Amino acid sequence: MNNRKIRRRKKNTGKILLKVILGCFLVISVSFVSFVLLVNAVLPETETFEEAMTWAPSEPIEFPNFETANEPESEIAEEIIDDDPFRVFPFFLEENEQAYIAFWEENPDFDAETVVWKVNAVLHVPFYSDIRINNDPNPLLVNPSHRLPYGFEPARLVPIYSGNPNLLATVETVTAFHAMREAALLEGIDLVVTSAYRTAERQEVLFARQDGDGVVARPHHSEHQTGRALDLWGPLGLLDQSGPPTPSGIWVRENAHNFGFIVRYTEENTHITGIIPEPWHITYVTNEVSEFIYINRLSSLEEFVARNPTFQLNH
Ligand SMILES: [Zn+2]
Repeated sequence: MNNRKIRRRKKNTGKILLKVILGCFLVISVSFVSFVLLVNAVLPETETFEEAMTWAPSEPIEFPNFETANEPESEIAEEIIDDDPFRVFPFFLEENEQAYIAFWEENPDFDAETVVWKVNAVLHVPFYSDIRINNDPNPLLVNPSHRLPYGFEPARLVPIYSGNPNLLATVETVTAFHAMREAALLEGIDLVVTSAYRTAERQEVLFARQDGDGVVARPHHSEHQTGRALDLWGPLGLLDQSGPPTPSGIWVRENAHNFGFIVRYTEENTHITGIIPEPWHITYVTNEVSEFIYINRLSSLEEFVARNPTFQLNH
């Protein structure tokens, strides 16, 4: 090889090296620019490094509440029922809600239904301690917690036995009594009334004769003032007042409801009525009420009214 050829080859090698260096520089420059653009796009706009380190979201992030989310559904449902188990009953009364809660705390053995009707019947407090006035012209419930207004008189009283002005009752009561008496006579039983309508003044005299409450109701608290209560006479005084039950007493107990009457004060309901058992005392409450009580085996007229708080007698 001659000297000229060698010089040309050296010149070519230098050109190739220059091209490689330029190429590498171009690739590095493009990569750097791309990196800077990418970083700016991803990071939030910040002015300083410190700001970048203390970045926080503009609105608080809501994390799921695991405590609530993990609670089983059944427990939540139970809590709602626990809060108010009384509203499910059709005779629930809004104004009694606090009393239901307090009464149930005192009597945890009662079920919710018993709590509601007993409070509605004012049985959560002692007799005569919370007295309401029954202003209905046809008052159904008259008892220790429901009294008649002063000066109350039944609309129309008629004699039970013609010619005897001492034994008066409402027209409907007298009609129902005679229908019952005739039915009893067919079975050889004669029902006799010994006491019926009483004025508040007469009741006051009777009440004054006894020692405390329990036998004779206080004035304005007696059903006898409504003209719908009758006391029956038996062979030994007031019907079944003493000794074993008589056929008359048994007949009345089993049949009175067919004629709109109830035996008002029984052994089973003394704690509800506040009156001792009186097999002789029957009350005309209409067939609608007497049959409802009989069919549903209710304890008392108190329970009927407590379970039907909007009910009113037509007569
Ligand atoms: Zn009586």
